[in-house]
Amino acid sequence: MGKRKSRAKPAPKKRMDKLDTVFSCPFCNHGTSVECRIDMKNLIGEASCRICQESFSTVITALTEPIDIYSEWIDECERVNNPEEEDVDQDDDDDVYVPRKRVSTSEWDD
Ligand SMILES: [Zn+2]
Repeated sequence: MGKRKSRAKPAPKKRMDKLDTVFSCPFCNHGTSVECRIDMKNLIGEASCRICQESFSTVITALTEPIDIYSEWIDECERVNNPEEEDVDQDDDDDVYVPRKRVSTSEWDD
């Protein structure tokens, strides 16, 4: 007599430990073409698109996550698209309250 194998399915585990490492590409807009790699030895993070071959690498820390590399890439892209926004001082409020002098009309010299 053999042992009865339990056919009960194990309760589905939530995969909370798997972080997103696949992102959409800022260049070709492909939804899942960017993969991030983390090189903990050299502390380099790299994101690259397998469709258009665009890639980005940055220095990382032990706490860096793929999403961080990706968002740095996006930042970098935006910087390229808006080169050096000049630091315009927007200080000339025209809301400044300027007290108006009342012109006295009281002295009617008749
Ligand atoms: Zn791409």
